Amino acid sequence: MEKTLHIVGGGMAGSEAAWQAAEMGVDVVIHEMRPQVGTFAHRTGNLAEMVCSNSFRSDDDEQNAVGLLHWEMRAAHGLVMATADRHRLPAGGALAVDRDPFSEEITARLRAHPRVRVEAGEITELPTEGQWIFATGPLTSTALGRAIQAETGAERLAFFDAIAPIVYADSIDMDVVWAQSRYDKGETEAERKAYLNCPMTKPQYEAFIDALLAADKTEFHEGETAGYFDGCLPIEVMAERGRETLRHGPMKPVGLTNAHRPEDKPYAVVQLRRDNALGTLFNIVGFQTKMKYGAQTDVFRMIPGLENASFARLGGIHRNTFINSPTLLDDRMRLRARPNIRFAGQVTGVEGYVESAAMGLIAGRFAAAEILGRPLPPVPQDTAMGALIHHITGGAEAKTFQPMNVNFGLFRPIEDVRGGRRGRKDRYKAYTDRAKAAWQGWLAGETVAALA
Ligand SMILES: Cc1cc2nc3c(=O)[nH]c(=O)nc-3n(C[C@H](O)[C@H](O)[C@H](O)COP(=O)(O)OP(=O)(O)OC[C@H]3O[C@@H](n4cnc5c(N)ncnc54)[C@H](O)[C@@H]3O)c2cc1C
Repeated sequence: MEKTLHIVGGGMAGSEAAWQAAEMGVDVVIHEMRPQVGTFAHRTGNLAEMVCSNSFRSDDDEQNAVGLLHWEMRAAHGLVMATADRHRLPAGGALAVDRDPFSEEITARLRAHPRVRVEAGEITELPTEGQWIFATGPLTSTALGRAIQAETGAERLAFFDAIAPIVYADSIDMDVVWAQSRYDKGETEAERKAYLNCPMTKPQYEAFIDALLAADKTEFHEGETAGYFDGCLPIEVMAERGRETLRHGPMKPVGLTNAHRPEDKPYAVVQLRRDNALGTLFNIVGFQTKMKYGAQTDVFRMIPGLENASFARLGGIHRNTFINSPTLLDDRMRLRARPNIRFAGQVTGVEGYVESAAMGLIAGRFAAAEILGRPLPPVPQDTAMGALIHHITGGAEAKTFQPMNVNFGLFRPIEDVRGGRRGRKDRYKAYTDRAKAAWQGWLAGETVAALA
């Protein structure tokens, strides 16, 4: 086996992957197309450039899933976290980063590493030989996107996301909502009850449409074309086309009977669909939106049954290249059909700087371990890292797969811990304690494997 690891893309994921593999003793080549070939969002030729906000979000490793991911990456001596910590800006409980010194330092440290070489240039094919990690991000170059599509099938690489908001199951009011698939379709009881339905009266529907039309919206970034299709229009755009459009589209009330009040015929129905195998997350069907986050929570809590909803993630539509990881990748981030190729970062269907760097960290370790002849065990599902990997490589519904942030809805529930809002603090602490122990165990096992 060729001993060099090739990493395509020197963003958050590629930089972290390179560092991890090099520190494990593997020679790495980073192939980065910038500055020769640019993107509409990057400004520099630096590695690990932060393209928009300068926030790594919450740094709370006891009560927040992304804070826990920070903790796990620090425990694994991650370059991205260590550098972010050195260039931290005051931001309360969040980790804000001084972006230019951050990416300049990552660039300098990788270029100075004796095992790392940075090669300028765009990669446009999936190589048949050698060990490769593709970490080309949401703005993967067009030529490479075509090559990936040729390998995976066109329908398994998306160029835009269309993210519907995702609600924690335990924050849905089941006294209002009922489980039923339209026209009771399905072979099994589970299929016939696959959707949760939120009924609306006419006044509730009218008020909801008013709120949608009035809500603050975000614009596409400069350079992003609004090339989304009619099949995934934002709900507010559908509402602008006519007040009844939604009632004839994703909110149509037909084929459904309110299990709590069979005599009441709802005027409109919002449907929620299970988003993960654990059944802890539900997405609001067809509700992709460009509303601002604050407006989304206000508007979506107007839906009967969701008055107290907690959101694992809010909706959005962005230019975003990502593969259908649940069908394409194995649990070591390898392309099932071409195991010499791994994917990492946002192109795998995670979202955010931290999640992308985390997927780079783990892909770098897996690839290096394989090159060194000491393959690693899968990452425990109870860690933040493992919960994310498990979600994208199998836990998520492949048919409706959309990019995901790390959140506690991806974690296996813990028995004996109080549910609902009241138990949240204890529950999150229990998740983070369990995750830390599992991650330390996995890292220790990895060290043992390396010494063997
Ligand atoms: C407009 C925009 C705004 C965003 N805002 C935020 C935000 O505020 N907060 C947040 O957390 N996330 C944001 N994101 C998502 C963000 O891009 C990711 O969180 C993070 O940068 C992804 O890391 P990555 O390593 O997967 O991709 P990137 O950091 O984008 O790195 C990919 C690298 O691959 C290179 N590349 C692409 N194709 C090729 C090729 N064929 N050959 C060689 N090199 C190639 C690119 O030049 C790039 O350097 C935003 C994304 C976009 C597009």
